[in-house]
Amino acid sequence: MDADNLCMTRRLPSSRSPRAFRRPVVALIAVAFVALAATACLPPADSTTPPAAPPTGMATLGHCPVEGFTYGNGFGPLPGGGFHYGIDMGAPEGTPVYAVRNGTLWYWSTGDIGGYSLYLKADDGNTYYYTHLTAYPAFLENTQHKVSVGDVIETVNHTGNANGFDHLHFEVRVGGPNGTKVNPRPMLDAAGCK
Ligand SMILES: [Zn+2]
Repeated sequence: MDADNLCMTRRLPSSRSPRAFRRPVVALIAVAFVALAATACLPPADSTTPPAAPPTGMATLGHCPVEGFTYGNGFGPLPGGGFHYGIDMGAPEGTPVYAVRNGTLWYWSTGDIGGYSLYLKADDGNTYYYTHLTAYPAFLENTQHKVSVGDVIETVNHTGNANGFDHLHFEVRVGGPNGTKVNPRPMLDAAGCK
């Protein structure tokens, strides 16, 4: 008998006469029984079932965002103040930028501090954010396109507040474009990116 069946057969004594609960001791036993029944109805603990979104936001990258790069600022507080929510990957202007997973590419912005930016709303439910990219035509802004893992989606540049440093600023947002930003470094290391 599994836990579900147990719950189906252990009916709470709701259909009994109220007189059964007049004496405090009976009521106490009933409370104990209800507590026991409620406990029995909890799903069995299963440590092998992974949580929907791991606390670390660890995601599996099917391809590196850039290849042949040098790390710049990492995820964390910046020396001059503020917090850096992505990781900087330095590479020469024009270096290909890749889709890290299958998903929908969203040409997000041609301006703002990130300069030319893209969101990749991926098939794992996470969103990957790429900024300081090479200028793309204005008509692409706010359009969305299906891409496959490993597709070249853009090239490295220094648009926005990149201070002239050719690099990709890469973010991992757990659960979607507005999701929690987590450190991409463990994911890049796991994927063997360098
Ligand atoms: Zn950055």
